[in-house]
Amino acid sequence: MPRLTDPAPRPSPGPVVALDIGGTKIAGALVDGEGRVLARSRRPTPAREDGETVMKAVEAVLGELAASPLWEAAGAVGIGSAGPVDASRGTVSPVNVPGWRDFPLVERVHRATGGRPVTLVGDGVAMTAAEHWLGAARGHDNALCLVVSTGVGGGLVLGGRLHPGPTGNAGHLGHISVDLDGEPCACGGRGCVERLAGGPHIARRALENGWRPGPDGDASAAAVAAAARAGDPVAVASFERAAQALAAGIAATAALVEVDIAVVGGGVAGAGEVLFGPLRRSLRSYATLSFVRNLTVVPAATGTDAGLLGAAAAAGWASSGPDS
Ligand SMILES: [Zn+2]
Repeated sequence: MPRLTDPAPRPSPGPVVALDIGGTKIAGALVDGEGRVLARSRRPTPAREDGETVMKAVEAVLGELAASPLWEAAGAVGIGSAGPVDASRGTVSPVNVPGWRDFPLVERVHRATGGRPVTLVGDGVAMTAAEHWLGAARGHDNALCLVVSTGVGGGLVLGGRLHPGPTGNAGHLGHISVDLDGEPCACGGRGCVERLAGGPHIARRALENGWRPGPDGDASAAAVAAAARAGDPVAVASFERAAQALAAGIAATAALVEVDIAVVGGGVAGAGEVLFGPLRRSLRSYATLSFVRNLTVVPAATGTDAGLLGAAAAAGWASSGPDS
């Protein structure tokens, strides 16, 4: 098998091709060494279709990028994909894209891009690469980054470098257990961080405890966040419980590998102080040893392009490159 996922050669001097593949959209871009998006393309993910149909959408995105005059200079491809991914085999099996199971995405993108080298990482690792390159973890040699949305993902920077692990999933904090006898999780485990802090679970817990959506019927975590900001005690409590779970997971990670910053992004992080207030407080009660006590928690800074920038970073810019 060609060693497509070996560290990509430093792309120079042109941009890299970045792909951000999720359950709702497939985004692509040409990204330069400063993190500027020079061209972009986007398609909805035909997530309920067969695997080849999903791949056609990826190829359509790549086709639009290939129409750019900058395409010929682009040297490498980075992919951040919804997980699970297996970077060692170059395959993806995104939970929300049932048509892709052990789908050979790296080989297919390698072929679709004229033989360019392809690097694959999970979306949590991609976001981590973006935050370390251009965002809130910049300048931190040991960092944990979290994506808190429908699911809870994450990634690690250790010793100044992105640490994707053998299969590209290292730092996947959502499925470590913080509640030994807790509720069963979709992953087969029990009491996982995601089961307590994922957006749908924040909303579910609020509803179970008596919170009711407003006249618009919006029962999302964002609606619970709005209620919490307005002082609804049940909504506040649901976010506090989520924050507690995240804090326990972050503190455990810090004790394990000595990170000094935790960056939290994703849709649920958009709740702002409703989440970050109790998160900082909870962290003080879980991260107590001298070497984790100075751990700080901050919101992510790379915004909606985090996936694309992270894919570009993983392809050779920034944290995995020699010039970082
Ligand atoms: Zn789980």
